[in-house]
Amino acid sequence: MVAKIRDIRTIFTAPEGINLVVVKVETTEPGLYGLGCATFAYRHLAIKGLIDDYLKPLLVGRDVANIEDIWHLMHNNAYWRNGPVVNNAISGVDMALWDIKGKMANMPLYQLFGGKSREAVPIYRHADGNDFNELCENISKYKEQGITHIRCQSGGYGGGFYGKAPKESPLGSQDGVYLNSKKYMRDTIKLFEDIRSKFGYDVELCHDVHERLAPIDAIKFARELEQFDLFFLEDAIPLEQGEWIRQLRQKTTIPLAQGELFNNPYEWKFLIIERIIDYIRVHMSQIGGITPSRKLQVFAEQFGVRTAWHGPGDMSPIGHAANIHLGITAHNFGIQEWSGTEPPNFVIQELKGPKDALLEVFSGVPEYRKGYVYPNEKPGIGIEINEKAAVKYPCENTVTTWTQTRSIDGTIHTP
Ligand code: MG
Repeated sequence: MVAKIRDIRTIFTAPEGINLVVVKVETTEPGLYGLGCATFAYRHLAIKGLIDDYLKPLLVGRDVANIEDIWHLMHNNAYWRNGPVVNNAISGVDMALWDIKGKMANMPLYQLFGGKSREAVPIYRHADGNDFNELCENISKYKEQGITHIRCQSGGYGGGFYGKAPKESPLGSQDGVYLNSKKYMRDTIKLFEDIRSKFGYDVELCHDVHERLAPIDAIKFARELEQFDLFFLEDAIPLEQGEWIRQLRQKTTIPLAQGELFNNPYEWKFLIIERIIDYIRVHMSQIGGITPSRKLQVFAEQFGVRTAWHGPGDMSPIGHAANIHLGITAHNFGIQEWSGTEPPNFVIQELKGPKDALLEVFSGVPEYRKGYVYPNEKPGIGIEINEKAAVKYPCENTVTTWTQTRSIDGTIHTP
């Protein structure tokens, strides 16, 4: 059967108040289509522009079978490449083509990657709380649900929420999410001391620095956290200061996870070849979809680096399912971040709707059971979207506030 690309459409929906971007590739075969995740929650209109004005005219009429060729065509067509907007748009098409490939083969996607290395993937959940007691309640709740790996945080990555500048800032400082790095470091070290005292060493703990420390502080922080036997420390070094991670690696044995902001192979190549990180955690749509992510997974395997794909709330269930398909197969799978189809325990500023709205729009979402997430056995990625339900939850184009992070002196800081 030869199926050609007939149409490419962008579908917006925000069932949880987070903008999700889905790309639908329709083919010349009646009823044969694919869905991909192109979620760039904070620039969603730009993705639609790229799809409608550039990728659709480039791709209509081409054979859906040739994913590798089409990926490189999309990647090179604009001459300038590896940007987050274009990568997400490419991902939407790429994932949709893999979805179609699985449907044509009548197999779930993981079968096309080589079948199962495991029946389900172990996941971690993110626990937060405004204070230690609230955090402990959330950790206990996850443990009761069978979660074995928990990422812990208190007070929103050390910055709280968007608002007025604190009194320590210069007069006239702009509104923002204000960081106090030294306090964050002190509070977090105390936090892990208290968590270990209360829960012991029977639970695996992670922590995300979220690029919110100066590199030398990150090194000091990692060394102090070492005693609490973390599963990993995440994004301790900002993307733009990547080379500092060599020094971090030399000075601590804390396992390092890095990469949810990566766009370009040059950002991860040296980390893997030099075996500086333990877990690669790129955001699959941010690097251009399943095609480059599968190559990255195999590349990392050669150097003993495991996967920990980014799986946040600002990702569609199609993106989550793609993570799970790759995780089921990958020999070097490490852990999967899971935002869950269960009710969220920590409501971020922009999060408005309930999880059941998400499940009204998307069906076939991978299922959580006792510490593991299972893919479904439907052909392709296995997720369906109810387009009528999707329009009930429109995306909003607002000015993003949670990324307006500032140091105490008022300087803009990486979010
Ligand atoms: Mg992170």
